[in-house]
Amino acid sequence: MSLVVANGKVVTPEGARILDVVAEGEKIAALMPAGTAAAAYPGAEVIDATGLIVIPAGVDPHVHLLVGFMGQRSVYDFGSGGIAALRGGTTAIVDFALQRCGNSMLKGLAHRRRQAEANVTLDYGLHLIVTDVGPETLKELPELRAQGVTTLKVYTVYEEDGLKLEDGQLYALMEEAAKHDLSIVLHAENAGIVERLRAEAVASGHTAPRWHALTRPPVVEIEAISRAIAFCRATGCGVHILHLAAADAIALVEDARAEGLPVTAETCTHYLALTDEALERDNGHEYILSPPLRDAANQERLWRGLVRDGLQLVASDEVSYSAEAKAMGLPSFATVANGITGIEARLPLLYTLGVDQGRIGLSRFVELFSTAPARIFGFADKGCIAPGYDADLAIIDPQTRRVMSPESDYGDIGYNSYTGMELTGFATHTIYRGKVVVRHGEFLGSEGQGRFIARISPDRFLPEEGRK
Ligand SMILES: [Zn+2]
Repeated sequence: MSLVVANGKVVTPEGARILDVVAEGEKIAALMPAGTAAAAYPGAEVIDATGLIVIPAGVDPHVHLLVGFMGQRSVYDFGSGGIAALRGGTTAIVDFALQRCGNSMLKGLAHRRRQAEANVTLDYGLHLIVTDVGPETLKELPELRAQGVTTLKVYTVYEEDGLKLEDGQLYALMEEAAKHDLSIVLHAENAGIVERLRAEAVASGHTAPRWHALTRPPVVEIEAISRAIAFCRATGCGVHILHLAAADAIALVEDARAEGLPVTAETCTHYLALTDEALERDNGHEYILSPPLRDAANQERLWRGLVRDGLQLVASDEVSYSAEAKAMGLPSFATVANGITGIEARLPLLYTLGVDQGRIGLSRFVELFSTAPARIFGFADKGCIAPGYDADLAIIDPQTRRVMSPESDYGDIGYNSYTGMELTGFATHTIYRGKVVVRHGEFLGSEGQGRFIARISPDRFLPEEGRK
């Protein structure tokens, strides 16, 4: 079965041109002059993309589907969350498997794969959250790598949840991971500062949502990122900084990369679309996430980091706690579930704020949304419109504008953090492995169609002269 996407403005590695894209089976077969492919492939399904933009479908390397908080589950599991992602032009994600403290990482991986494979609707890889670094843990690394897990997630905070690794454990893990071609994805915050400031705030009765941000000042991120880069330099182990929010830390990443160290960083859509002003609203607790939202000047500096090479990609850090779940921890910020949904809105937010408002060009948008996440996280067949790659495409409409509301999301989350914002660049069609799986918001695929992807070694886009 062939599929032709005709006459669209196609973003290829060589730039954007009006072309026809031909998919045969699951792969991209050819790029042809506009208006010529339908005749060359008689019987093919043809989508006319005149006036529309065709991009490689998104890769979101930081999402949490099917997670729990105080007895509640996230709205999204691997089925519904995958559909939300597909509606947002994304066909591949990296979620997380968890090593239960004192237990095997491989067991954690097998457990998460069983959970996903019940109904997963898009391609997925898994980071392995390491909570305990004993000799048995380190012995599992080669097998983990053989099973397609290339990244270990480490938290430097959340001791109360049994997630935090001490520096000695992190260092030992990095030394060993480097030997087996594994790298670290890091939640980088300084636990000591956060814990002290939070205890002081709570003891003084300062429990309103804005204290969440005040107890996690930028130095919390800057210190932890500096530490990770020092460990990277000493061990040679690659580090990806998750959800970088403090713009002052961008220079650390830039310097490390200029030095040739295997360091990359992402920011998330919510840091680009929202500021700490949201924490002052009546529903301020719905904007509690970590690291916290920061001010408008910081936000513009994140954009500058995205224009340069200070930040390599934009992820969602998707967590779909319902309005009810977010409210459960009240009245204190310290007990509200952290997180925000964004798996579907990543596309229109990044397109509108980035391309439509003139902060980044179309090619850079595609790099941040799709190409760089695919390459940095080792999806060999994703992130590029060229023959031989998976026929995973998003067709986006740069004209139609919609005002965001709680009904904008696929799932019944009960609120939308971007309510009232007018956005454009929504996907009219999402094509996954050569098939149209979303047409104008409607899911046409099937539960369980997604696949686990064994990921390959990263390409971190380091400058040639700096490569180590
Ligand atoms: Zn996260």
